[in-house]
Amino acid sequence: MKIAVTGGKGGTGKSTVATNISVVLGRKYSVALGDLDVECPNDHILLSAELNNERKVEIFKPIFDYAKCTKCSVCKNICQENAIVMFRNNYPFLIPNLCSGCTACKLACSYNAIKDGSKLVGHTYESEIHGIKLFTGMLLEGEERAYPVVLATLKRIFSYSADIYIVDTSAGTSNSVAKSLESADLVVAVTEPTPLGAHDLEGILKLTKKLNLKTKIVVNRADIGNEKIDKIAEKYSSEIVMEIPYSEEIVKSYMAGRPVVLDGGKMAKYYEDLAKIIEEELYGDSGGER
Ligand code: SF4
Ligand code: SF4
Repeated sequence: MKIAVTGGKGGTGKSTVATNISVVLGRKYSVALGDLDVECPNDHILLSAELNNERKVEIFKPIFDYAKCTKCSVCKNICQENAIVMFRNNYPFLIPNLCSGCTACKLACSYNAIKDGSKLVGHTYESEIHGIKLFTGMLLEGEERAYPVVLATLKRIFSYSADIYIVDTSAGTSNSVAKSLESADLVVAVTEPTPLGAHDLEGILKLTKKLNLKTKIVVNRADIGNEKIDKIAEKYSSEIVMEIPYSEEIVKSYMAGRPVVLDGGKMAKYYEDLAKIIEEELYGDSGGER
C-alpha cells in the first residue's frame, strides 16, 4: 500500500503528519517512509535519524570526442535545454548547469562523437528509527533538478519490502510531485485554513483528480484562519478527515526531533486517530490482517 502525504505549500505540517503516522502505523506494520522533499528534506530531523548508507545520484553528462565530431550542429539543435553551444564554426561545448542529462544529444549524433560522462546531482540515504525505515533523498546544494533525485529515492524505497510505503512529497504541483504521487492508494493533502493554504490545496486537488487518486484532506493549525476549506473539499469530492489545532506541543516536538506520538501527550491522539482513519481507508474497518 502506498500513501502519499503532500501539501500545496511548504510549512503546512506535511512532514509532521508523515512522520507521526509512520511511527504509529509502524507499531503494527512494516513501514518505509520516503522523504521526497529533496530540496529540503526534514523527516530525518523530525525523527532525529542519522543519515546512513549514502548512495550517489548521478545523471548523464555528454563528453564530446572532438576527434570524431564533424561540427554538424545536430546535438546543439536537438537540445531542448540550450545546454550545447557552438560559436561560428567551432566545436560544441556544454553548459553543465543547463543539461538535464536526457541523452537526446548522444542518441542524435550520427558520428558517435558523444561519450558517456556523469554528473553528481544528489544522494539518497537509508536509516532506521522508531521501528520504521526512512529513505531520504537530498539534492546537492546549488543543483536545480530535483527529478532524478526523486526518482532514485523512489527506486530505493520500493526495492525495500514493506507493508506500507509512505512518501512525503515536496510542496507544490511540479513534475517531481506528480511522480511522487503516482500509483498512490491514498493521498493525504495537508493544508491550513488561510487564503494561501486554500489556493494551494486547490492546485493539489486538481492534480490528484487528474491522476485519478483517492484524496483525503487534513487541515493543520485548523484554528489559525477561517478560510472555507470545506467548500474546496466539496468541489473536488474530497473529505476532510482530520482538523488538527495549533499547539505548542507540536512546535516543541519539532525542535526536539521527537514525534509527539512517542510521548502520548494531548496532540498524540490526533495523529493516532488519523493513522487509524488511514488504516481503514487502506484495509477496511477491520484493519490489515497481521
Ligand atoms: S552531433 Fe555529434 S558530430 Fe554533430 S556537432 Fe554534435 S557531437 Fe559533433
Ligand atoms: S543530455 Fe540532453 S540536456 Fe544535456 S546536453 Fe544533451 S540534449 Fe542537452
